[in-house]
Amino acid sequence: MKLHEYQSKQIFSKYNIPIPRGRVASNASEAKLIAEEIGERVVIKSQVLVGGRGKAGGIRLAKDPKEAEELAQQILTMEIKGLPVRKVLVDEASMIEKEIYLGITNDRGARRPVMMASEAGGVDIEEVARTQPDKIVKVHIDPFLGLRDYQSRRIAEGINLPHAQWRSFGTIASGLWRVYQDCDATLAEINPLVITSSNQLVALDGKMILDDNALFKHPDLAEMRDLDEDAQSEGEARKHGLSFIKLDGNIGCLVNGAGLAMTTMDIIKLFGGEPANFLDIGGGANADKVSAALRIILSDPNVKAILFNVFGGITRCDEVARGILTALAEVKSSVPMVTRLVGTNAEEGRRILANAQMTTAETLVEAAQKAVAIVKAQE
Ligand code: GDP
Ligand code: MN
Repeated sequence: MKLHEYQSKQIFSKYNIPIPRGRVASNASEAKLIAEEIGERVVIKSQVLVGGRGKAGGIRLAKDPKEAEELAQQILTMEIKGLPVRKVLVDEASMIEKEIYLGITNDRGARRPVMMASEAGGVDIEEVARTQPDKIVKVHIDPFLGLRDYQSRRIAEGINLPHAQWRSFGTIASGLWRVYQDCDATLAEINPLVITSSNQLVALDGKMILDDNALFKHPDLAEMRDLDEDAQSEGEARKHGLSFIKLDGNIGCLVNGAGLAMTTMDIIKLFGGEPANFLDIGGGANADKVSAALRIILSDPNVKAILFNVFGGITRCDEVARGILTALAEVKSSVPMVTRLVGTNAEEGRRILANAQMTTAETLVEAAQKAVAIVKAQE
């Protein structure tokens, strides 16, 4: 689950990370009011769950409340990378001397969290990693010891931070570490962390991604979920008890079992296709669940073919087949489908589907090849 900038910054400030004065607004007149309260130049920042808002024109400086109102009005009608802007953050504008990157994520290879910093901040860190990898300083954090002071100092030195800011940097780095750990985050990032013209360190941007599987421990954080911004399909899937993750490909996958779903995606890729989603309908999936799953997959306009891969154990293939037909009766889709049913009641399941003129396959390899071929034929 991603948090908005304003939410991340609110959390940061509880951990002694300095943030600019400001508040979030959902309309232009509110933005004007906040600008009046602040009484200085402000920056109007679109709150959408993607990066690169600055480049997209979603971050603008306003010299007075009137201009803040106008710019908020403009930004609130924008779409950034396909996401409509529903809120803006109105922050006191900062005079920037230097932009730094500071972030923590999990380094699976090292089996521990890693804090990364760069003096080439402000821009995309992936870009820095590609073009100037030597500009990124990394320290791994022992989760039982936490971030040690010497590690913060090593980072400060590595990014050529002036000595005057080391103490403040230490507070911010340890704050960010505690945020990351306390919230069960998978990413906590300040980009940019700026040195202002009055030599203060301030977190100008904030980004957090929380581990969905730990949210049950954090009802207060779970509440922050932006249902508008959430991939709608994922919310819908949650309601039906389906494990669903939307991806960017065009072959929809409907599979029972997480491992089998992963395998299905792997095999699709092996034959040159791109899965449109991960979907595990779970064991004992009944017709209703399958029908919900199918509707969710079909709501994605990118989907050009669907691959059903069902291994009947607890889940009976005839139930699944009936679910497919129920869903198709409701959704009336022309998207071609390939089914591979094996296991409990597979015979009966296949018989049910034979009438629906669905392409069937005996093996997963065959099913994946057929699905990929269907998609390629449409290109
Ligand atoms: P992102 O583009 O989505 O990562 O949004 P950021 O919050 O990081 O803002 C992008 C850029 O806008 C920053 O790197 C700054 O250069 C600029 N910016 C943001 N806030 C201010 C501000 O208060 N004053 C000035 N001068 N620039 C700002
Ligand atoms: Mn940023």
